Amino acid sequence: EPLLLQAQGLARHYRVSRGWFAPKATVKALNGLSFGLKAGETLAVVGESGCGKSTLARQLTLIEPPTSGSLLIEGQDAARADAATLKRLRQRVQMVFQNPFASLNPRKSIAATLAEPLVINTRLSQAERLERVEALVHKVGLRPEHLRRYPHMFSGGQRQRIAIARAMMLNPRVVVADEPVSALDVSIQAQILNLFMDLQDEFGTGYVFISHNLSVVEHVAKDLLVMYLGRAVEYGDKARIFARPLHPYTQALMSATPALRAQDRRLRIKIQGELPSPLNPPSGCAFHKRCPLAQARCAVEEPELREVDGRQVACHLV
Ligand code: SF4
Ligand code: MG
Repeated sequence: EPLLLQAQGLARHYRVSRGWFAPKATVKALNGLSFGLKAGETLAVVGESGCGKSTLARQLTLIEPPTSGSLLIEGQDAARADAATLKRLRQRVQMVFQNPFASLNPRKSIAATLAEPLVINTRLSQAERLERVEALVHKVGLRPEHLRRYPHMFSGGQRQRIAIARAMMLNPRVVVADEPVSALDVSIQAQILNLFMDLQDEFGTGYVFISHNLSVVEHVAKDLLVMYLGRAVEYGDKARIFARPLHPYTQALMSATPALRAQDRRLRIKIQGELPSPLNPPSGCAFHKRCPLAQARCAVEEPELREVDGRQVACHLV
């Protein structure tokens, strides 16, 4: 059985203008990512805002083609697919956004919002569509009478349930969730994460969970991909990485997460300064200007991802 997703050297570069007289610059928003996702599993992608997570989400949902590298969806190469195949592949990968209010049309009832993907993409009759909508509304913990209501009549948590139901409407194999609980009250976050897990158990959906928050992904992820300026700095089994993070940036993200810091007193690495501009990334290891362990070599030589202790890590010291 092929992987649901397989990225090989996935890269997305943008040409951007820096002003009238300056030559255009290239931003390497994604710079050679390789990873896989199996059915029923969750890959968490973690990093600061600006590290390339949103670009990755656009790649995985086939909104824009990669500059280089490949993305296989259930074994099919999306970059080389014809229009009909691409349309089919797009239905296989659905998205859940951070802000469920912005992602729902305020003028449409929940019934209309949920039926829309079926109207556009299937030949189901109206009765069949209603049956499917009602079944999913039930699965996400809402009631049939909610179908007649409009988005503003729901709480944030309920709206995210609606957005999740919409994402599941076409039986996707993969759901990409970009900060799906970070706009919600902490008391609601666990409920929504549990809903994601219940749906995964039932349908075998693969998730790519994008988050800046390690404590959110700790309980849902099988694998963890830590990104810094468009690259993976550490990637592998989540439990292994949480038990012993090897990259200084992973350690710093963990020590910045109070719930995790309390568990492990060894994590004392602090990130210095801001994320550098992707327009002008540092030479050598892109993290070297902020890394408390940096050595002379780190400013000139870019570390390769290597297999160390059951995961991949890109750091000269490891
Ligand atoms: Fe720090 Fe050097 Fe490792 Fe980069 S390669 S993370 S600068 S020690
Ligand atoms: Mg973002």
